[in-house]
Amino acid sequence: MAWQPAENRYDTMKYNRCGKSGLKLPAISLGLWQNFGETKSHQSKREMCRTAFDLGITHFDLANNYGPPPGGAETAFGEILRTDFAGYRDELVIASKAGYDMWPGPYGEWGSRKYLIASCDQSLKRMGLDYVDIFYSHRFDPDTPLEETMMALDQIVRQGKALYAGISSYNTKRTKEATKILKELGTPCLIHQPSYSMLNRWVEEDGLLDTLEDEGIGSIVFSPLAQGMLTGKYLNGIPQDSRAGKSASSLNETFLSEATLKNIHALNDIAQSRGQTLAQMALAWVLRGGRVTSALIGASRKEQVIDCAAAINNLDFTAEELAAIDQYAIEAN
Ligand code: NDP
Repeated sequence: MAWQPAENRYDTMKYNRCGKSGLKLPAISLGLWQNFGETKSHQSKREMCRTAFDLGITHFDLANNYGPPPGGAETAFGEILRTDFAGYRDELVIASKAGYDMWPGPYGEWGSRKYLIASCDQSLKRMGLDYVDIFYSHRFDPDTPLEETMMALDQIVRQGKALYAGISSYNTKRTKEATKILKELGTPCLIHQPSYSMLNRWVEEDGLLDTLEDEGIGSIVFSPLAQGMLTGKYLNGIPQDSRAGKSASSLNETFLSEATLKNIHALNDIAQSRGQTLAQMALAWVLRGGRVTSALIGASRKEQVIDCAAAINNLDFTAEELAAIDQYAIEAN
């Protein structure tokens, strides 16, 4: 018998309006950057996606290059859409992006119209979709006129290949420029996807969160757990099967310096005093005050998705707790 999602899947998750748009996103979303490539079993990918949807996580974030190999995550997710999620497309918000290195030659990365439109078509094919809900420019391209990149996003939306346009990792200055162009084109920027966590606060310093609020743009923050550093897993060494334990990983052992570990221990104590895991507090913290629409997590097993989704049970902080956290929520070095 085909898999059926939990009937009570909308009972507990919180949904936040994405900027000044009509779209709501779950407070916790699932990204498929890592653990969705060919090196992982299809069963574990299925379990994570099923678990997420059962918990009301309706938003899945992908990009052309997620794998390995690049494209692998979209292919795997396409399979899940054809099987477990068949019949649920209208309950899902699916995002993809183009910007990083995807295929050889001069047309396989950055922000040209040539690349973005071809890449979007490839993503749709891999996932077996007619459209994605959100399509992003994955990074600002200093060598392509911003007008060209934004016109490509506008065209993708007008052609019905995406419902909304987004940008990722653009700084405040570039965000303001991109937003203005998109507005003039008649395709407002729905959402910005920057990194943000207790160990990475550039969006506060750069003024990006203020800008997004002023412009009525939503935000979904990636790596809110600092790739796993803001969980209990590194408190007593580096487990072999963790991201930092793997060779050639995006989370290098050097990130876990003595000073950073000291802060992580102190943050863990504060989380415990709130009756939360460190992962849950880290997610509640990026969502504090309602400025961020969604916290975009990654996971290597379904238990992590369950732990993270329960962050919504305690999203409030006292002023004392926030002040205590500020002492240790310092950029990793
Ligand atoms: P996180 O900061 O959430 O880190 C995820 C990792 O943390 C997991 O792989 C797992 O590590 C660990 N983890 C998660 N939950 C728990 C838990 N409850 N207990 C213990 N450990 C846990 O985010 P990611 O860095 O994975 O990024 C999330 C998503 O953001 C990506 O999938 C992608 O969609 C997006 N992204 C976007 C970027 C952009 O440029 N726009 C760049 C990077 C990410 P382990 O594997 O060790 O078990």
